[in-house]
Amino acid sequence: MNIVDLRSDTVTKPTPAMWAAMANAEVGDDVYGEDPTVNKLEAMAAERMGKEAALFVVSGTMGNLTALLTHCQRGDEAIVGDKSHTFLYEQGGMAALGGIIPHTVPNQMEGTLCLSDVRDAIRGDDDHFPRTRLICLENTHNVCNGVPLTPWYMERISEVAREHGLKIHVDGARIFNAAAALGVDVRELVKHADSVTFCLSKGLCAPVGSVLCGSADFIKEARRARKVLGGGMRQAGVIAAAGVVALEQMTERLVEDHARAKRLAEGLAEMPTVMVEPVFTNILYFSLAPQVTLTAGEVAARLREYGILIGPRSARTFRAVTHYWIDDEGIERTLKALREIL
Ligand SMILES: *Cc1c(COP(=O)(O)O)cnc(C)c1O
Repeated sequence: MNIVDLRSDTVTKPTPAMWAAMANAEVGDDVYGEDPTVNKLEAMAAERMGKEAALFVVSGTMGNLTALLTHCQRGDEAIVGDKSHTFLYEQGGMAALGGIIPHTVPNQMEGTLCLSDVRDAIRGDDDHFPRTRLICLENTHNVCNGVPLTPWYMERISEVAREHGLKIHVDGARIFNAAAALGVDVRELVKHADSVTFCLSKGLCAPVGSVLCGSADFIKEARRARKVLGGGMRQAGVIAAAGVVALEQMTERLVEDHARAKRLAEGLAEMPTVMVEPVFTNILYFSLAPQVTLTAGEVAARLREYGILIGPRSARTFRAVTHYWIDDEGIERTLKALREIL
């Protein structure tokens, strides 16, 4: 039985084209700047984001931390959403390793930070205060139902940043999903950002890696930060080769994942036993209706018997994520199994 793995888009294995590209990759020592495949990937990524330069990093977490360490000094403050990945799921790396203070502002349902909340969070010039340096945003917003932040919002928040001389970093782990859902070029979403990270290893199917993009000067400094974090890789072209394929072949098709997430949501909405959150991209949250006596963990265990993997997020809620390796049949099988179990 083939497994329908809806736990995350990180479970995506490489495509056949990626395996071929990795097997045949031209490589060199990337710490010397001599890996042609890494250089190619970085140039492509910068071009796609509309930035001057890019840096291949091991993970999204490393990309975000590298950016934070480059924008901020010890004792500086970064404004972050209280439901952001950077705040919730990166071990507080900015504080632990960078001495950077995360100043949280509530994430709104649409993944945004209220402009007035951000204004209130910015510190004045006073010897008592840390210095505010940076605003961090997340697009799409994982915990906020995978919602994309719009070009309109980016324009507004950038006005606040400019007023106060702050930089903007976008955790764009799924920025191509945002662009696909909104039908805009990804450059439109990050043109006001000083830096952006995106993951190759999620819906784009590459096995490893993220890319941090920004100005040439910023990336030059970020290269130093990556090195101290242990992220100076050698013949990294072996994995960058899959990233090149990801950018060439995998960004346009993300709309298919969004359509399947929508289909899954529609099927779930017809069931009286579950309650579905709105779906915007490839991430779908749903919960068990009050009359259901099973816990989310028990339902997940039953689903496993059907060859379906879904991650429980709490005692009553689930997150399902569609991706390249989930087809229409997988969605229908999931709905059928849930109808039987519940
Ligand atoms: C996955 C993810 C990250 C971190 O990426 P890793 O490669 O898992 O370290 C950062 N931000 C968001 C929004 C993510 O979804």
